Amino acid sequence: MDSYRGVRTALIVGAGMAGLTAAIALARDGWQVEVAEAAPTRAAAGWGLCLTGPSLRALDELGLADTCLAEGYGMSTITHVYVDGEPAGETQLPRLIGAGRPAAAGIARPVLHRILYEEAERCGVVIRHQVTAAAVEQDQEGELVRVRLSDGTVRQVALLVGADGVKSSVRGLLGFETSLDYHGLMIWRALVPRPPWASGIHQFAGKADTAGIVPISDSQAYVFLTENGAERSALPDAELAPRMRRLLESFSGRVQEMRSLVSASESVVRRPMLTTFLEGGWNRGNGVVIGDAAHAPAPHMASGAALAIEDGLVLARELGRHGSVGAGLQAFVDRRTQRCRTLVETSVAIVGLEQAQQYREMYPLVDSCHRLMAEPV
Ligand SMILES: Cc1cc2nc3c(=O)[nH]c(=O)nc-3n(C[C@H](O)[C@H](O)[C@H](O)COP(=O)(O)OP(=O)(O)OC[C@H]3O[C@@H](n4cnc5c(N)ncnc54)[C@H](O)[C@@H]3O)c2cc1C
Repeated sequence: MDSYRGVRTALIVGAGMAGLTAAIALARDGWQVEVAEAAPTRAAAGWGLCLTGPSLRALDELGLADTCLAEGYGMSTITHVYVDGEPAGETQLPRLIGAGRPAAAGIARPVLHRILYEEAERCGVVIRHQVTAAAVEQDQEGELVRVRLSDGTVRQVALLVGADGVKSSVRGLLGFETSLDYHGLMIWRALVPRPPWASGIHQFAGKADTAGIVPISDSQAYVFLTENGAERSALPDAELAPRMRRLLESFSGRVQEMRSLVSASESVVRRPMLTTFLEGGWNRGNGVVIGDAAHAPAPHMASGAALAIEDGLVLARELGRHGSVGAGLQAFVDRRTQRCRTLVETSVAIVGLEQAQQYREMYPLVDSCHRLMAEPV
């Protein structure tokens, strides 16, 4: 197999987890990387994130897992509680970065974003804000792709990566079509002080919804809630905290303590749950889409970040191992498709079981999916 010796210039659209990890991995392999990000600043939306074993494993390969553990909160268990308050058991998450380190980390999104951002800049990646791709054209020889940016400037690069999230516009510019599926489920997150007992993930089945808590530092945690049977809608900001507290009223036990911690609406976010899987390949010419732009799972497995970060790493590895960008992209897609499809499909099946309140079937499926995700990438 030839290793790639051609021009190493890349434009990545989207400075999320997939885009920044791809930028870091490519820059370390000698690529000249520019990232175009639509947002005006580098702040990441949302409060907290759970980095499960596969996320930490991929971050460890980039040398960043220990920083995430130091700035986040290391943990190794999920405690499940049935709707009647009866304990449903404890899942030991697989420790994929060694027995001496935690299996997972809760972390504030802006903190993870800062860690990735600073590493990308240390590697020489140029990140530009309030810019996106406006048009894409493959050159006749198939060696370069020409991208017109929204500021009117043009880039001719060997590689275009669309890492612009579930609503990706690069996906459309490359000629792909996919559906974004809404499953009647709104997802809530609230930043709260960490109760002393929340030293791992706790998940509580309710009469219609599921709630839980994830620690993200010694002092902070986020409360999560899935609101089932909800219309896809936006609420006025001021209504977020009161509505979340009202939805949590139907739970008993520790959720009432969590509920009392949900205070200001500025600390609450509510999003529609959208999933997608791009069938038939994610690459065209010298362009490819990665992360949520190609495969967005339901958050129930807390593994979308893992897929996004793994994508960034595997993309750089496969490009380095093949004689042309086209061959490298094809190898990347071949290597990633089955794993990402399985996660998206299983996460949607878990949502179905949750909505049918079949928790006794749901928890074992969550466990088996964590074991599957633990397999080597
Ligand atoms: C409520 C919720 C909770 C979740 N919790 C977890 C969890 O605990 N653990 C986990 O592993 N996963 C979780 N996920 C999934 C995880 O957030 C995603 O899988 C992950 O963020 C995907 O990374 P990405 O880089 O592909 O996309 P994103 O994180 O969405 O990043 C895309 C980036 O592209 C930018 N962008 C968008 N459009 C354009 C454009 N046209 N031009 C330029 N830039 C653009 C955006 O501003 C953003 O910076 C959750 C998802 C949701 C919705």
